Amino acid sequence: PALPLFSALGKHATQDRVAIVDVKLGRTLTYSELLTGAARVKSLILETLTRSSTDIGEDRIAFLVPSGGDYVQIQWGIWAAGGVAVPLCTTHPFQELEYTVSDSQPSLIFLHQNFSQHKSAFESTFPSVPIIDVPLPEDAEKIDSVPPVQFSPPFDASRRALIIYTSGTTSKPKGCVTTHENIYFQASSLVKAWKYTASDHLIHVLPLHHVHGIINGLTATLLAGGTVEMQPKFDPAVVWKRWMDGDSTMFMAVPTVYNRLNSYFTEKIAGAEDEQKAVQGAKKLRLVVSGSAALPTSIKQRFREITGQILLERYGMTEIGMALSCLYENLDGTGRPDGGVGWPLDGVEVRLVAEDGSIISHPMEHGEIQIRGGNVFKEYWQRPEATSKEFTADGFFKTGDIAYRDQSGGYFIQGRSSVDIIKSGGYKISALDVEREILANIPEVKEVAVVGVEDEEWGERVAAVLAMRDGYDAPELKPFRDKLRKSLAPYKIPTLLKVVKGIERNAMGKVNKKQLIKDLWP
Ligand code: ATP
Ligand code: MG
Repeated sequence: PALPLFSALGKHATQDRVAIVDVKLGRTLTYSELLTGAARVKSLILETLTRSSTDIGEDRIAFLVPSGGDYVQIQWGIWAAGGVAVPLCTTHPFQELEYTVSDSQPSLIFLHQNFSQHKSAFESTFPSVPIIDVPLPEDAEKIDSVPPVQFSPPFDASRRALIIYTSGTTSKPKGCVTTHENIYFQASSLVKAWKYTASDHLIHVLPLHHVHGIINGLTATLLAGGTVEMQPKFDPAVVWKRWMDGDSTMFMAVPTVYNRLNSYFTEKIAGAEDEQKAVQGAKKLRLVVSGSAALPTSIKQRFREITGQILLERYGMTEIGMALSCLYENLDGTGRPDGGVGWPLDGVEVRLVAEDGSIISHPMEHGEIQIRGGNVFKEYWQRPEATSKEFTADGFFKTGDIAYRDQSGGYFIQGRSSVDIIKSGGYKISALDVEREILANIPEVKEVAVVGVEDEEWGERVAAVLAMRDGYDAPELKPFRDKLRKSLAPYKIPTLLKVVKGIERNAMGKVNKKQLIKDLWP
């Protein structure tokens, strides 16, 4: 049977469409060039592993390749060979790369020349794993002799296809295995909800070792036959410039990226000659999405003031792809409520479960989000106990995230049960709620993380870690608390305060709160 992901690309290849714009190399790849490249990668893999069959049977292949055409050809080449793609994080030091490689045990590594400083360490740490240098050697004759990619690969869609490591926000990253079927489900549910088409042009600035960048950005756009413009990294000047050009239709990012785009506009574009052009360009985008971490309302509002766009927030995780999304159609504004992550995507079952195991049916009651559907991953790589621990008897995945529903059935994330739900004096307090109110009421605060600090009397105390905007001093506790009284119940108002220069975030804009507590309240 033809795998739907392959059929889609095959179909687009019959038209002369551009699949990838490789900004770094100043080059484009049509769909048919992408597939020829993938076929070449496949034959290189078979040759290097000296396999006689045309299928490497779920062997893992790791690749450390920057955002661009090579990345995509290698990913599809691995899939065409029947292998499991393991994208490595381009900003990781060797120690973390070593963790991912030892854990996933690849048979082969593709290593781009940008990261040649790691080559000898890879060779000595993993002496039996061959390395293929990227860019691949130019060899025109060979390209011609490569058989084209089979659109009916000799395996079915239940086969493992991808291992993405979780962001490592709460513990060591875990490898999440998804099958071809899962990937197709995840990407096509977004294509349907957000209406991607072949005329779409995505400015892609996200890292390519997470669901957000790989599935929502790259794969869903390719599935629809659109164009992915792969920027080597996020640079607010470049994004604003590209919006001014007016030829892109979609943008996706994490809240910190929108924060930087807002600041760049305020500092560099507002009042300048091309202000109107910038605003008009941003207005024209048909889809602007935020996710991976809670979107502060202040960032959402500022972006709307500048561009007229209401950011579309969605909720997902490595294990499940996307599950909840605000509405694409948002005519009267109710489809994208502040602080809300929306409604279940088509085909995804979402429920809230209370601590006693009962399923919540009433609005405003808090419980753990549990998910079932074709989007849900197969397993944590080589962690059978961890996998079975995270599923209920009736097959729902336990996300560990707490939320409630409003009257309309829309979901509001309260945070992770392990770090964001603070238990103080018998109350359960959502750190995300308190963070939102601090940013809304105290504009001198640039960044905030609210955490629970262990306390004999209270169990935990609500503590705020602040980074102040330039030129503002650390606030005293009393006036700080006073400013929050009108919007927060007394028990939610932080009783501990620390001011730092900046709050460290990982590649996906997330704060490691366990580490933060360890550092600040040792
Ligand atoms: P690890 O599992 O290794 O600790 P992680 O959970 O941060 O890392 P990801 O799978 O990348 O790794 O992130 C998923 C988590 O991100 C979700 O469980 C949720 O807590 C958070 N998240 C994603 N989208 C949103 C959102 N829109 N609002 C709030 N939180 C979000
Ligand atoms: Mg997680």
